[in-house]
Amino acid sequence: MQERRSASADLALVAVLVAAGAWLSNTWGGRPGDLSAVWISGGILCAWLLLRPSASWVAYCVVGGIADIAGQWAAGTAIPMAIALSICQGIEVVGVAYFIRREIPNIRDPRHWIHLGGVATVSTLLACAVSGLLVAALAHHVMKADFGVAFATWYGAHVLGMVIVGTATLVLHVEGLRALAPRGRRTRFAVSMGLIASVGLAVFTHPYPVLFLTYPPLLLGAFRHRFAGVAIGVTLLAVIGIALTTTGHGPLAGISTSQPAVGIVLLQLYLAGGCLLTIPVVLAMAERDRLTARVRDSEQRYRLLADFSGDLVVRLNQSGERTYVSPSAREMLGWSPEEMLGSRWHLMHPDDREGQRRAMEEVVVSGLPQTHRFRIRHRDGQYIWVEGVMRSVPGGDPSVPVDLILSGRDISKRVAAERALEKSRLELERLSLVDALTGLANRRQLERRLALAIARLNRGRGAIALFFLDLDHFKEVNDTHGHAAGDGVIRCFADRLQAVANEEKGLAVRLGGDEFVILLDGNITAAAVEDVARRILASVDAPMYFGEISLMLTTSIGIAFAPSPVGEDDLLATADEALYKAKQQGRNRFHLTMARASRPQQSAPNVSA
Ligand code: GH3
Ligand code: MG
Repeated sequence: MQERRSASADLALVAVLVAAGAWLSNTWGGRPGDLSAVWISGGILCAWLLLRPSASWVAYCVVGGIADIAGQWAAGTAIPMAIALSICQGIEVVGVAYFIRREIPNIRDPRHWIHLGGVATVSTLLACAVSGLLVAALAHHVMKADFGVAFATWYGAHVLGMVIVGTATLVLHVEGLRALAPRGRRTRFAVSMGLIASVGLAVFTHPYPVLFLTYPPLLLGAFRHRFAGVAIGVTLLAVIGIALTTTGHGPLAGISTSQPAVGIVLLQLYLAGGCLLTIPVVLAMAERDRLTARVRDSEQRYRLLADFSGDLVVRLNQSGERTYVSPSAREMLGWSPEEMLGSRWHLMHPDDREGQRRAMEEVVVSGLPQTHRFRIRHRDGQYIWVEGVMRSVPGGDPSVPVDLILSGRDISKRVAAERALEKSRLELERLSLVDALTGLANRRQLERRLALAIARLNRGRGAIALFFLDLDHFKEVNDTHGHAAGDGVIRCFADRLQAVANEEKGLAVRLGGDEFVILLDGNITAAAVEDVARRILASVDAPMYFGEISLMLTTSIGIAFAPSPVGEDDLLATADEALYKAKQQGRNRFHLTMARASRPQQSAPNVSA
């Protein structure tokens, strides 16, 4: 409201209101110069100061003071007395405004209203006591008035003025005319205020002492319309009470006539009772409204986040029952959130249920978030891989201390990519251990297997037989029939070796060119090894066919046999030498040498065939 008014117009408005308030308080107070039941102008000026920057307070106080003096003068108070009273009131108003501003810089913020209620009450009671003492002393010395009566009436009038008029002015300022006629509740507001006014009129037009009957409708107004209900309701009762009592009506009229001061104090007590009854109620309700709105806001905010997140957000209780499922379930899994509510373990892949249960237990016990992967069945039947982060949150009711929030993301594509990667890694690993031409193990694989076999042997288990094989006169095949035929021979020879190696549960290896290895280990004897060598020679002793070509080949075999611990180098060298010997002795044969550790101990006894 203020933004739409210029500073001078605002000053003019407060001047008019303060002057009118001062005039009204004086006129209704009884005879001109008397102290009134409710002092209006102080509450108006104080509320005004609280809603304006401190820097402008001097201007408002000067204008307000002049207006107050003018209002009093218009009601018949002598100018010097009006000035003195106005100064006392100024001290009171600035005191209250200063304390409130110091404690609560922004009184529009509802979070501070409970605190505002306390600070405003204390500062009003103190500041009005100070101004009351000054005025009572003045009235006692100048007008020979009774000090105590003058203090009591001023004090009551000003405290009430601050509470009733100050609150009403603040409410009207902050909420504007909506406070009087809130949209959608105008009729209810009018009915509530009408009820208060009717009961007020009824009790103040009859002499019976039933003023308390106005409190229930006032309380109803407070419940229904909060601050506006209290401010307007009490103002109505004050106007009706003062107007009818000063014109000789109602239960207080008799006392007012015989003992005006007592009548005023009783009227003030009646109005103060109305304020004391309702203001704490509306402060508590405003706080409750504020907290409720905050909870609702934050709930809406988080619900909005969950609802519009692409991730699946699920709230679970400790038995795995889903109590909330975000709408993203439909997009990710094909199920509607309602279909997924409740205990739906069967949607989870059987292999993942135990892992999920364990993750839930760990979250509950440790209170720390857990990330895990699991599969959930899509409506179309296929399983979707989900990576979920599970956290514990306070449970929905006191009997359930902890609930779980699971935020899950569809990682099916990632899992598929990881699997493809793993597959190709395994394939690469396999290829790196295999000879490309024959499919037999290669030198790398031999090294690994030989190391394992030697380790076993060195632990005192079994024996090792290492066969070195080299085709005899292979070069001639290449030279006579071409490289392709040579390759064919190598493949055919590899197949025959593989067959024998398989029978013996050994490893057949192509080292390169026409060089091959068979590794046997375990419970083998030299005699058994020789038998294997004979079977190899026999298996080679059969024609190899390539299209029209039929070839007969032979191989030489050198065998290192190690029944006791031996080093790898010793074993290889022994096999190599044995092969050399087989070649030397005329090829198409085997030569077995016992391998021993710490060369140059030579292989003996040697056996050839
Ligand atoms: P020896 O009886 O002394 O073993 O005589 P050899 O003719 O077999 O001689 P050696 O073993 O030294 O020769 C191996 C030949 O194998 C040499 C090379 O041309 C050939 N070779 C090596 N790798 C391949 C291959 O992958 N394919 C074919 N076709 N030939 C190969
Ligand atoms: Mg050869």
